[in-house]
Amino acid sequence: MPKRPWSIVWVTLSVLSLGALGIQDRRDLYSCDLCRARKVERIHSVWGVPFERSERAEVDGDPGIGHRHDWWRYSSSFAYGPYGALGRGWACHTFRYKDRTN
Ligand SMILES: [Zn+2]
Repeated sequence: MPKRPWSIVWVTLSVLSLGALGIQDRRDLYSCDLCRARKVERIHSVWGVPFERSERAEVDGDPGIGHRHDWWRYSSSFAYGPYGALGRGWACHTFRYKDRTN
């Protein structure tokens, strides 16, 4: 029986587990103090390379015509490894908007 297929399986498995160890899930919360909008941005990356990015509004603001959101990050959390098994972190401001209001 040739040994080669087994070593290929083994290499594949180690590459997969190495990849899993490098998984990072980051979640940033932003606010715009001008129109009170808020958004959540999630970035999944493996070894620092983003492969999935999603963004959704948490609160829709009331932007006037020509308004450009002044996004300000008020909270940030991240998890390392599959399901955060290798560590988690979290940092945030005590207020949600740049003008120190909630
Ligand atoms: Zn805005």
